[in-house]
Order: sequence, then C-alpha cells, then structure tokens
Amino acid sequence: MPSDSPKPVPLAGWGRYPRSQAVALRPERMGELRLPVGQVIARGQGRSYGDAALNAGRTVVLTERLNRMVSFDAATGVLRAEAGVTLGDILTTFVPRGWFLPVTPGTKYVSLGGAVACDVHGKNHHKEGGFGEYTRELLMMLADGSTVTCSPDRDPELFWATVGGMGLTGVILEVTVRLNPIRSAQIRASNHPVHNLQEALRLMSDPATDDDYSVCWLDTTRTGRSMGKGVLIVGHHAPQHPAPSTQHPPSPLPPHRRDAPRIPVLAPVPLLNRPAVRAFNIWYDAMNKAKGDYLCHYDPFFYPLDFVGGWNLLYGPGGLLQYQIVVPDRDAEAVLRDVLARLQRAGMVSFLTVLKRMGPEGRGYLSFPKEGWTLTLDMPIGKNKSLFAALDDVDRELVKIGGRVYLAKDSRLKPEAFAAMYPRLDAFRAVKRRVDPEGVFTSDLSRRLAI
Ligand SMILES: Cc1cc2nc3c(=O)[nH]c(=O)nc-3n(C[C@H](O)[C@H](O)[C@H](O)COP(=O)(O)OP(=O)(O)OC[C@H]3O[C@@H](n4cnc5c(N)ncnc54)[C@H](O)[C@@H]3O)c2cc1C
Repeated sequence: MPSDSPKPVPLAGWGRYPRSQAVALRPERMGELRLPVGQVIARGQGRSYGDAALNAGRTVVLTERLNRMVSFDAATGVLRAEAGVTLGDILTTFVPRGWFLPVTPGTKYVSLGGAVACDVHGKNHHKEGGFGEYTRELLMMLADGSTVTCSPDRDPELFWATVGGMGLTGVILEVTVRLNPIRSAQIRASNHPVHNLQEALRLMSDPATDDDYSVCWLDTTRTGRSMGKGVLIVGHHAPQHPAPSTQHPPSPLPPHRRDAPRIPVLAPVPLLNRPAVRAFNIWYDAMNKAKGDYLCHYDPFFYPLDFVGGWNLLYGPGGLLQYQIVVPDRDAEAVLRDVLARLQRAGMVSFLTVLKRMGPEGRGYLSFPKEGWTLTLDMPIGKNKSLFAALDDVDRELVKIGGRVYLAKDSRLKPEAFAAMYPRLDAFRAVKRRVDPEGVFTSDLSRRLAI
C-alpha cells in the first residue's frame, strides 16, 4: 500500500461487538462521492448493533455530512432529504411546523439512509407498518457509479431490495418520505401493569387497551407464573396541546432539546450486571406502574434511552448483544416462554427487554417485520460463552416456527439459519446480481451470512 493511502480506522456498531478496521471515506457533499476500487458499504450513524455497517479491510462510506434537506411540500408532508439527515434533525425542523415521523425506532440518532436500509419499525408497526411503507422514492448510487431513482412504481424490485437491504444494493443518496401531521408535541399515554406474559399478549391484542403506539417492558428476572411481568405503555399523539406553553411566543409544538449528558468513559467491567438489572427492574416497575394516564412530550415517550448519551459504554469492554426476534401469532405465548426459559438457563441478564406487536410482513425482500410479536433483549457479552450456544438453539427453534432474527441488531446469526428465516433471499439475490454483479457492496454482515 503506498504510504499516502488512507489508514484504516477501527469501527464498531452500537453493541461495540464485533469490531473491525476499514478505510473511511467521508464526502462533504453528494457531488464528491466516488466509489473507490474494491468493496464498500455505506454507514449512517452506526446505530445498528452488530456488523451491518462494518467492512473489514475494505471501505466504509460515512454519510454523516450528506445531511441537507432538499425540499418539503407543506400541503402533503412529503420531505426529500439527503440520506445522512437524522430522524432527530427531521423532528427539530418539522415538529414545530406540525409534522412527525410516520415510523420511528427507539432512538432518534439514526440516519434516513439507515432507516430505509433496515426498514426500521416503531411502536406502531401493528397499525402502520415499517419505514419503507412511507418511503416514496430513493436516489441511489449503484456499483458502476451511476445514479438511479427507484420507487414502488419505478424499478420496484430495486426499491424493495433496498428497503431492508442492509446497504447491499448501493449507496442511498436521497430519501423521499411522507411525514404525518400532528397538532401537539405531546403524547397522551397510559401505563398498565401486567402480571405475566399471557396478560401482556392479551392486553396488547385488546382494542380496549391497545393504542396507536404500544410497547411492553418485561422483567426477565421473573420466572414461572410471573414470567413476563412488566408494564404495558401505550399512547397516541395528543389531539391538541392541552396546557399553555411557557415559550415566548407560545408554541404548541416544541421539539426535543438537542443535548443529552454523555457517559464519559468505557466501563472497565459490565456495570449492567445481574444485581444492577434486578435493581433497575424493581425501580422501573414501581415508577411506571404508578403513572396511570398521563401526558408527556414525544421525546421521553419514544426515546428514553437517548437521555444518556453513550449508554452502550456501560456494558464494558466485551460489548453488548441485542437479540431481537419476531415470532408468529400462533402459539406465541408458549414460544416466547420457551425462548425466555432457554436464555434464563444460559445465564442471560437482559437490562432492557421489550415486547411489541407487529403487523403484516414488510414488502422489503430482507425486511425483518412479520405479523406476530417481536421480543428484544439487551445482554452484556462479557464472559458468558453459553449465551451464544443458547442463542443458536433459539435460532433453530425460530426456523421451525417461521420466526426470524433482526439483522440490524445481529452480530452472530449463522448463514443457514438466516437463509431459512428470510425466504425472499433469492428475490434479493436476483436484484443484487443485476445491479451489483461484481459484489462491490459488501459488509462484515454480508460475508458472515453469505448474502
Ligand atoms: C437505542 C436504539 C434503539 C433502537 N430501536 C429500534 C427500533 O425500535 N426499531 C428498529 O427497527 N430499529 C431500532 N434500532 C436500530 C436502528 O434503528 C437501525 O439499526 C438503524 O438502521 C440505524 O441507522 P444508522 O444511520 O445508525 O445506520 P448504520 O448503523 O450506520 O447502518 C445500518 C445499515 O444501514 C446501511 N446504511 C446506512 N446508511 C446507508 C445509506 N446511505 N445507503 C445505503 N445503506 C445505508 C448500512 O450499510 C447498514 O447495513 C435501535 C438502535 C438503537 C441504538
């Protein structure tokens, strides 16, 4: 390598496991972007947990400076923006004008490109579907350096291979997405204590308790009859701002504040260990159960974890594994109990465990969402080797019942299990062969899973 070649830099996803080194290109403007010789992958905010935005020994294109809003139609709510614009940027700009994201994941620090490439879902998937459903058009750079536009009507195969396609069809340059009108920045929320998994599933399916947004926090330290004890949190956008604002001039639609305090250093050992998880669960249960019906700003409702910047550092040097699965409706309670019991036997400690309902399967060929229930567990990797073996066992069970693992969170799935979980893989590969015959777009994830 000539001495003036750019040096590889260490990179990781949000879980800080695994890590690898790649040359990082960071174009300041879209017009500057040229694909290098060799293999490449785009990276947004690095909020996927595993190896989706890593490319060991190759190139990663950082899109964070490609963050300009291009146009907005105030009559229809259709926004066109560069792929590096974050969902947080969209909220600060458009909430005061009365618009909100149609779908949002549990952090606002993700890029538009990442939201499309993972076809992210939110607390409203059971009602509204995934991010791809609101994406009108994509401007992309393909492997040969050409730029193309695709949409559900224009080259729909490329569009649906790119929605959920984990960056493997090309670099998304611009995203056109439809926002939803809101009249208040507040959410009318209510909390319901749940005593076990059966009750959680029942309340989340019951129109009397269900709402536009719904998520159930579970205490995974519970076993036996109280397995799945937790708090169901539901809500919808308040129809109008109910209290006078303290702002001058008064605004019914204040966006979130920009800065959060940050964890300053990497914890030398996992601080989110068993005693901490137990204590957190008791506190969280007491705090949330007591709330009942309430109004709150959208920021704590959708993004409670964003209030501590760099919270992933608390998981220590080994990093964090987030395991997110979806299981079909049929026998969901028995299947979820079995998953939790297997992981409990393997010594699993999950700081934050959530259950959400999912609506019909996304149209993206590699989209994760599928009708049923999605369970997400956050686990320190530490020294617990039996955890990985237990997760392999769970993967095998998922394959049998038609469940799947979410690639945006994944760092350890095996290629055979992946292929069985994603039956539209052949449709994806056909598009990949057409637009990227030489395999320019690769990532550590695509090599691990033989995508
Ligand atoms: C606290 C937290 C909560 C989360 N909650 C949810 C949730 O509720 N629902 C959910 O669905 N996800 C959730 N996620 C995952 C997160 O929303 C996704 O991983 C999202 O894609 C991250 O966006 P990013 O910009 O950081 O992408 P990165 O992590 O940088 O990249 C993710 C993938 O997108 C591709 N990509 C990024 N930009 C482009 C581009 N311009 N062109 C082509 N490909 C691109 C990358 O190649 C990679 O494959 C959560 C993550 C965190 C940290």
